[in-house]
Amino acid sequence: MKGRFHSFESFGTVDGPGIRYVAFFQGCYMRCKFCHNPDTWEVNAGILKSVDEILLDYKRNEVFYTKGGLTATGGEPLLQLPFLVELFTKAKEKGINTCLDTSGGISITDVNKELFEKLAKVCDLIMLDLKHSDMKGYSQLTSSDQTFPLNFLAFMNKREVEIQIRHVLVPGITLDDEQLINLGKLIAPFKMVRSLDVLPYHTMGIAKYKSLGIPYTLEGVREASKEEALLARDLILDTIQKERALKQPK
Ligand code: SF4
Repeated sequence: MKGRFHSFESFGTVDGPGIRYVAFFQGCYMRCKFCHNPDTWEVNAGILKSVDEILLDYKRNEVFYTKGGLTATGGEPLLQLPFLVELFTKAKEKGINTCLDTSGGISITDVNKELFEKLAKVCDLIMLDLKHSDMKGYSQLTSSDQTFPLNFLAFMNKREVEIQIRHVLVPGITLDDEQLINLGKLIAPFKMVRSLDVLPYHTMGIAKYKSLGIPYTLEGVREASKEEALLARDLILDTIQKERALKQPK
């Protein structure tokens, strides 16, 4: 079996703990308006590689990954679920820490449930982007339905996989106190959500849209600042803490 990839990074420092080998899977149907990697969308493009080839690449620099590991990102790695499960299974056999960066936007069905069960057993950390605090906003920001990532979150939470929520702060869309509080309330019941990363929206991807001839729908939206991201993170964390305290037995 071969997977389809956009690219690989040998010294990733922002996609999971420590220094990591990062595999950017090719293909994504989500069409998030803030996506800065539209070149990963096309499902039939990219480089073909086998699990063994990737693990051989990993081995070349493994001395650097002692506190890190392997991250699958994209694009959407879950679109290549059988390959992803094989990759993480073999990685775990070699003692490699595995991290999945995903939108969770794939439906868990009777047909693929067994693969999701296997994935839960070989994934050390899931970094999940819920995109928005509510269903309507989610559908406006993406081409999909928030039911899928919420089901995915519940599924992985139940199987006790550690989860980090990633949230992109877009001025005029997700940079809004009420929404941030609602996001905190949405996340709070999931005990396996152990960390939160709030990322300021940036416009560095615009040139890619132009070169691919894809219309950029956030034209004119300003970038968010690091300070705004820190404040937003505090507000979400504060809400989670309050919600969880309310649910504690007295
Ligand atoms: S899920 Fe990720 S790769 Fe896919 S469109 Fe959204 S931001 Fe881009």
